[in-house]
Amino acid sequence: MFEESGRRDAAQRRLPLDPCLEHVDDAAARALAVLPPGPGLWAALAAVPELTGPDDERSSDAVLLEVVAAAERLAAGAATLGARALAALDARWRAEAAALAAQDPVAAAQGRVRPWTDSEVGARLRLTDADASALVWQAGQLAGPRSAVLAALGDGLVDLPRAAALVDRLAVLPADVAAAVEGRVLPGAGLLTVQTLRRRIDAEAVRVDAAGAAERAEARRAERAVHRWAEPEATACTTVRGPADAVETIFQAIDARARSMRRDAVASGGRDDATLAAWRFDALHQIALDVLEGAHGPVARTAASRPVAHVTVAATTLLGLDDSPGLLRGHGTVPAATARRIAQDATWRRLLTDPVTGVAVGTEEQRYRPSALLAELVAHRHATCSAPGCGQPGWRADADHVTPWPQGPTSAANLHPLCRYHHLVKHSARGMTAAVSATGGTTWTTRTGHTYERDPDAVDQRAALRSPLAAPPPAALPPPAEPPATAA
Ligand SMILES: [Zn+2]
Repeated sequence: MFEESGRRDAAQRRLPLDPCLEHVDDAAARALAVLPPGPGLWAALAAVPELTGPDDERSSDAVLLEVVAAAERLAAGAATLGARALAALDARWRAEAAALAAQDPVAAAQGRVRPWTDSEVGARLRLTDADASALVWQAGQLAGPRSAVLAALGDGLVDLPRAAALVDRLAVLPADVAAAVEGRVLPGAGLLTVQTLRRRIDAEAVRVDAAGAAERAEARRAERAVHRWAEPEATACTTVRGPADAVETIFQAIDARARSMRRDAVASGGRDDATLAAWRFDALHQIALDVLEGAHGPVARTAASRPVAHVTVAATTLLGLDDSPGLLRGHGTVPAATARRIAQDATWRRLLTDPVTGVAVGTEEQRYRPSALLAELVAHRHATCSAPGCGQPGWRADADHVTPWPQGPTSAANLHPLCRYHHLVKHSARGMTAAVSATGGTTWTTRTGHTYERDPDAVDQRAALRSPLAAPPPAALPPPAEPPATAA
């Protein structure tokens, strides 16, 4: 009864009119702007001629702009459904894991009893475990301490980027401070840009709890870090995160060096066609090279301190006979010219590849532990851990028997690299099971019965393009126009 009247209210509910529409006279635009996400809004959109197909009628510009805003509200409303379902699934699997852990304390102590929600949802949404884990965490926050943000999201008063900003920024604060800050910034959060919203949250956190803010800033210093990751087109990115004043010092130093490098280049008659940002990169690169050359004091000449690059490149490409792309360890595919440049002053190895598929091949060994050669071959067959969506580099992973030895052989086809985390997932209660797939890759089956294929990675990209593995799956092909001719 209560439920039903609640639904009726929802059908008639109107949002407060966004202040930006105060001086808009268009009644249709104003009517659309106050509809919360739900069937009423969908029905109103179905009456917009531009959305329903060829029609002589035209909506006003203001209505079309409100349709764009309405679509954002619908997406926000839909996001609450996903977050609620995910939080429910995670809670269910957590309870299940807790019960299992009580039954088997040894397995629990070894980390083999966990809910594995991130692996399951990551596989389904084709996300890395890190991204999936962030999504599961966000859903838990929205369903738990940030229920007010979830309600605002459901009403379309904030969208997902703003809800995420609120969840992320408030999570670092003590519960009482977070609740107080949320109360101050949530009303009207939808009227701010995401960046302004973040600044507002930070400012309110200091206002609400000045002493605590100072303590937290001090603790945050411990989280200072420099990270790097691969980006497309043979580039990579690095971030420098730490106390704001230190980052500013670093930036000012690089900037000053960049400006003087540019001045010197121009003074000596060179052209200045690079941006200041590009000069800053060159300045930072030069500083790094100086450090490695010992200009700032001796550095240990270990493998770790030398710019060692492992590049896989066809011998024919190295000789300049063709331009097959190479594979840079820790990064991925790079153009032939890049692979040749790296190979000139770095450690490189040539790999035997299957001339048809471009996949690294090898022989079977009559023992459990693969030889170093076979282990390396396995790492090159798979650029990354072979669990669905995992991006951990293959060379850093364990070589796992897909079908356990001795039922399965110690061979390149039955070994796949698994990072420590997914190794644990595979050998756990309620984890995932793996089998060798028809294409020599790995077929994963999760607890819900969903299956995911990971093919081996082609080392020789040129061969891979000719390979039957590169053909689109049969489902993607159009049906034959006529019965196939009789086979010869
Ligand atoms: Zn993994």
